[in-house]
Formats: sequence, C-alpha cells, structure tokens
Amino acid sequence: MGIFIEKSLFFILILLAGLAAFWFLNAKQPRPQTQDGQLTVVASGYVPYTVAKQIGGDYVNLSMLLPANAEPHSFEPTPGAIVAVHGADVFIYVSPRIEPWVTDILTNVKEGAQVVQAAASAKPSKDPHVWMDFDNMRPFAQAIAQALQEKDPSHKDIYAANLAAFNQQLDELDRQFAAALKNCKYRRIVHVGHLAFGNLASRYGLELTALAGTSHDGEHSVKRLAQVVDLVKNSGAPYVFTEEALSQNLAGVVAKETGAQLLPLYTVEHVSAQEAQNHVTYADLMRRNLTSLQRGLECQP
Ligand SMILES: [Zn+2]
Repeated sequence: MGIFIEKSLFFILILLAGLAAFWFLNAKQPRPQTQDGQLTVVASGYVPYTVAKQIGGDYVNLSMLLPANAEPHSFEPTPGAIVAVHGADVFIYVSPRIEPWVTDILTNVKEGAQVVQAAASAKPSKDPHVWMDFDNMRPFAQAIAQALQEKDPSHKDIYAANLAAFNQQLDELDRQFAAALKNCKYRRIVHVGHLAFGNLASRYGLELTALAGTSHDGEHSVKRLAQVVDLVKNSGAPYVFTEEALSQNLAGVVAKETGAQLLPLYTVEHVSAQEAQNHVTYADLMRRNLTSLQRGLECQP
C-alpha cells in the first residue's frame, strides 16, 4: 500500500513537472521580445497583424496570436497566447464575429493597455470579413494608427505618414478593382470555400456562391456540393475559385465534375508560415485576388 502511494505521488509529481514545462514553453514562444522604447503590440490574426506592421514599422514590437495557417474562426487560445495578451501595450483584433475566442481573453489585457476592435466602424454586412471592402479598411487602419499614436506619441508623425501611405494603397487598389472588374464575361464568383468574399463581390457588382458559411466549419454538405456543381455546369463557367484552408479535395471534385479549372482566392486571414515570415501584405494578397478574378471571370481591360 505504502509503495502504491509512493508510486502515485511520483507520477503526480512527474505530471505536474510536465504541465509546468508545457506552460513554460507555450508561454515563452509567442511572448514578444521587448526592446527599449518599442511598443509591444499583439494582433489576433493576420489581417490586423499586416496592417499594424505597415503602420507601426520598426517602432513596434509586433506579434500575432494565431499560428500561421491556423483557422481564425475557431482558434483556441493557448496559455502562451494569454500571456502574450497580458504583455501587450496595444491589443488589436478584428471583431467578435470573426474571432469569437477573443472575448474570453480580453480579461487578460493589462491595465492601461489599448484594446482595438479594428472592424468596429465597418459597414453592417452579413459577411463579417469586412476587410474585403476597401472602404472598411480605412477606419480599420485608422483605429490601429490612433492606438499606436496614443501609446507612443513620440512617433506620432511616422504613424500618421504610414497610415497615409496605406490609405493611398487602398485608393489605388479600389481603382484597379473597379476598372478591371467592369467588363467581365461572367459575373458570379463560385468559391469552393467559406463565405469570405461577400463584401468584395457586392462592392464591384458581382454575384457570389460559396460552398460553406462564414466560418470554415460551416456546412459544406454533399447536397451543397451538388448544388455548386450544377451551378457551374449550367453557367458554363470555365473557372471556380478555391481557398487553401478548406479541403482541396472538394475543389478537386467540383473541377472533375464540371471540367472547370481552379484559381486561388486569398482571404488574408491566414497565410503560410513562409509568407508570414516574408510579410506578404494585404495589398499583395488583394492584387493576387484581382489577377485570379480577372482571369476566372474573363474580364476585358
Ligand atoms: Zn473567414
């Protein structure tokens, strides 16, 4: 009996040591390296991350909670993510509709830190991927710039200049999208992915059919797949659009059943580790989207 208790105690100690090591490793990984005079800025996912990077530049010590390639809508924050949020001078997220998990970790923000819900001023829309409308990106970026300016007034002018440059990019993108998508043979985006391009479609007078709902775990039933296949067959559309996060097999099924070819669309909300490291920007990904749409919808210049 005594040996049994001793053994149990030993295993409990091992378990506790393991848990402590797990906590330490997780806590250590996303914790930003603070440098003198730099603001510690934590973004929920890639959209606020890339905008904060463009506006904050080298003056902020920026990190992101969502690991590369992770699904943004149903992420479960690790202990490390909670520690990172607690260390933030500025914490930026998109909205509770995009990241329902953020609500639970907001209590961990330290006193005096700025919390930015970047999509707070977006136009009301059924599709919460508000950054797909350039008009929504202006207040989005403005909210981020304002928080940086308030927490770090010594670099106020730099943040303002970077914001102005970002807004110029938005104007340019908007002009390019409007011009390129004016004269297209097909006006329906058939997207074998989740509903992320509703705002983009409505901005440029396009129709959208998406396989799944507004999150990746939305239904993409056999029935829905059959409807999408029928739609592509009936319209004779030569291309359908895919997203990497959703099963490529489903896109393959649609391609096989209809003879349509596949083109990628980028939601911006998740990128590969390599692209995150190279800091692919919002504008880069939106330009890629335009290239795919022009080709897939057969638009004439
Ligand atoms: Zn999404």
